[in-house]
Order: sequence, then structure tokens, then C-alpha cells
Amino acid sequence: MRLVIFGRQGAGKGTQSKLLALHLDVPHISTGDIFRAAISAGSEIGLAAKAIMDRGDLIPDDVLRGIVAERLAQHDAANGWLLDGFPRTPKQATDLDEIADPPLDLAINLEVPEDVVVQRIGSRRVCEASGHIYTVGDPAADSARCEIDGSPVVQRDDDTEEAVRHRLALYAQQTEPLLGRYDRAGMLVTVDGVGDVDEVAQRVASAVEGRKAT
Ligand code: AMP
Repeated sequence: MRLVIFGRQGAGKGTQSKLLALHLDVPHISTGDIFRAAISAGSEIGLAAKAIMDRGDLIPDDVLRGIVAERLAQHDAANGWLLDGFPRTPKQATDLDEIADPPLDLAINLEVPEDVVVQRIGSRRVCEASGHIYTVGDPAADSARCEIDGSPVVQRDDDTEEAVRHRLALYAQQTEPLLGRYDRAGMLVTVDGVGDVDEVAQRVASAVEGRKAT
């Protein structure tokens, strides 16, 4: 299956995408993770992306098109993929229509109200090395050490209150309107993203299985 997942920042898209990709046995392709890896590697694209990301702004569409086209052409994506964080603008959605061959099957909207995500992002911490997500109150977040590999656990540079507000506004302006486009095409399923991780994962999996069966 070829899927995209939508949701506000902090809706749990990253966590749910990883679980769903495992369940479907397709690669999880997060454009945010691709840029964060490029930043860690100190590559040219990473250096250019860092300032834009720290402000909570969007990286130009043509950069995304190249990166996504290259990634979808890789061997492991031949039988399906789950895109997380792309498309985010109308131009990116048109680009995906052109790049995806075979075409996209399904768009998932992980719905979590804005006040809930603002609170979640404020307490989100991530492992610098693995990207594993913790919440303030978890031992790993409070000791600032990842329980998987011992790496530092930090707040993302773009999780500051100002950057978060900006990212949510961009989501409302640029990304949310795309839901209507996939809905009109009969390709959208909306899943309630409020609840614990396993509960939401089950909802997502059954929504996708329900679509597969039709
Ligand atoms: P995410 O992890 O999906 O929240 O992405 C983190 C940041 O990476 C975003 O705030 C953008 O600066 C950048 N980014 C990731 N995906 C895209 C995209 N599809 N279009 C533009 N910028 C992106």
C-alpha cells in the first residue's frame, strides 16, 4: 500500500507512522527525519535546512520534490511506502501525484485538537541519536538520557513555543486544505488521535485494514 499521514505537529504522527509501517511492512519515510539526519551528518542540505526548521518554516517545495522522488525510487519502496510530513503544501501534493507510480492509495488524517497538541509538544523530548520520543515525567526525559542507547534526550530546536505556534499556523494555512482534496477523491480516512499509543495504533490499523478490504 502507498499511504500518506496527516496531522498537526504533536498529533503523534511520527509514533503512529512507525507502528503502521511495521504493521504493513512498508518503509516509513519521514521528511522531517530525513532533514534531521542531514543536519546531524553536517551535510550541505542539512546546514541549509537547519535555520529554516528552527524557525518553524517550510523548506522550499522543489527541494522536497527531489528528496521524495529519490527516496521513493529506492528498492525498499517498490512495494509500498508510508509518507509522514509530505505533502505539506498544494504544490507538494501535485508533485506527489506526478512522482508516485503506482499512485497513492490512502491518506490518513490523525485528528488531535490544537489545544491538546500544544500541551503535548511542550512536554515532548527526543533522543538526539535515535529520535525516540519521550514525555516530561518519563524517567528518560527527566534524566535526559535515552533508555535505549544512553544518548542525550533534549527538546527539539523547533519545539519552542514561538516555532510551534508558527508551525501550527502553517499547518492550518497550507496543509489542512489538502485534506479536502483527498476526501473528494474518496481517499481520506480520519482517525481520532486522542488516547494512548496502543489504542490509537489499533484505530489506525483497523481504519487502514477496512480500506484495504473495500
Ligand atoms: P516534522 O518532523 O515533520 O515536523 O518536520 C520538521 C521540519 O522539517 C518542518 O517544520 C519543516 O521545517 C521541515 N519539513 C519537513 N517536511 C517538510 C515538507 N514536506 N515541506 C517543507 N518542510 C518540511
